[in-house]
Amino acid sequence: MVFPFSSVEDFRIELSEEHELFRKSVRDFVESKVMPKWREIEESNRIPREILNEMAEMGFFGVGIPEDYGGQGGGQLMTAILTEEISRAVPALAVTLGVNHLFAIPILLFGSEDQKKRYVEPIAQGKARGAHANTEPSGGSDVAGIQTRAKKVNDHYVLTGRKVFISGAGDADFLVVSARTSEPLEGKRWWGITVFVVEKDTPGLKIGQQFKVMGMRGEQPYEVVLDEVKVSPDSIVGPVDEGFKVIMATYDHTRIGIAAQAVGIAQAMFEKALNYSLQRETFGQPIISHQMITGKIADMYMKLEAARLLTYWAATLADKGKREFIVAASLAKAYATEAAEWIARQTIQIHGGYGVDFETGIERYLRDAIITTIYEGTSEIQRLTIVRQLVRQAFGMKI
Ligand SMILES: Cc1cc2nc3c(=O)[nH]c(=O)nc-3n(C[C@H](O)[C@H](O)[C@H](O)COP(=O)(O)OP(=O)(O)OC[C@H]3O[C@@H](n4cnc5c(N)ncnc54)[C@H](O)[C@@H]3O)c2cc1C
Repeated sequence: MVFPFSSVEDFRIELSEEHELFRKSVRDFVESKVMPKWREIEESNRIPREILNEMAEMGFFGVGIPEDYGGQGGGQLMTAILTEEISRAVPALAVTLGVNHLFAIPILLFGSEDQKKRYVEPIAQGKARGAHANTEPSGGSDVAGIQTRAKKVNDHYVLTGRKVFISGAGDADFLVVSARTSEPLEGKRWWGITVFVVEKDTPGLKIGQQFKVMGMRGEQPYEVVLDEVKVSPDSIVGPVDEGFKVIMATYDHTRIGIAAQAVGIAQAMFEKALNYSLQRETFGQPIISHQMITGKIADMYMKLEAARLLTYWAATLADKGKREFIVAASLAKAYATEAAEWIARQTIQIHGGYGVDFETGIERYLRDAIITTIYEGTSEIQRLTIVRQLVRQAFGMKI
């Protein structure tokens, strides 16, 4: 097998008829119920309740969550297809879905049986919402640098700190929250962080301002303030002081979902650009016949399919439990999000003045695409992960 892979198994994408039937059912739902509402979502900055209720009825909140915990099963590839199809219409709605996974995955990977039943089951059934509160004013990329404190007092913990850019916090019933329980050890900055579940009505938990970010209208993030929030040791997810590993393992999985968001954006933009370039005429011919536009359409198509292949490949590796999924997830996240941003930009260019007009519903995808390059590990952080994993995979070395 070619360097740095060792088996042809690592290159299979296991897409089946079942995946395509599922895609069709999601697309039918999205075309009839979500697409007609994009303008209302942009203008009101709210996802209509009826869309969420119907998604719950369709079982969409349970996709990717095991049946034992109220989900539909389906794994990462099924989740990627769901995310892609929803993002093709309204990327912010995929964020609503994604934050539930950001909440549920750490519990599924490291939580107790009781936590899985108590918290993951209602999320999977669409009866409750989750959020993931890690980023702080002092920084999001450097997870080991968080400053929120969890102090042990008698038989419980008291959390104090501030989190920023927390998606879904305004409607969340439960949040996973990272906090420092011990000082770092020498040479182990990551040591001493613990992950807790905090329920929304816990005294001291306050949802602060909503950030006015450039895109993802309908699901823009919030500030979360923890003012002496008292929680029991039962709320700890995974080992005490080893929460850094819980968070990193979570992002290894969820960043495939961000790549899938980007693929959905890229798909929507590609379709619009192709249709418009066939219809719009200048100088007596459709603009697709002008070589500079022909070249753009070809480049868009190349990047779109490469992004999709990387994303499905990462999802397949994750579903097979292969460790190589971590590097694949970062390759997919960095590539697909940057491709979506580029494709959205070219789609605007191809539409000329109409491309920058809100009413055509095109410029919103560029605003959303840029955000995908930032959250759940910026493009720069993905590149760090890619090289670290490559060196570990190829030479067994840690850098
Ligand atoms: C719309 C939105 C929703 C979000 N939702 C959530 C959420 O639900 N939960 C949550 O916890 N967080 C959330 N975030 C936060 C997001 O994950 C962080 O913004 C992101 O991780 C980057 O952190 P930062 O903004 O603090 O930038 P910083 O970490 O301060 O980075 C600043 C710049 O420096 C670069 N940089 C940093 N370190 C390195 C390095 N070692 N090498 C090279 N370059 C580096 C970064 O790539 C970036 O370009 C959300 C953010 C947005 C915009």
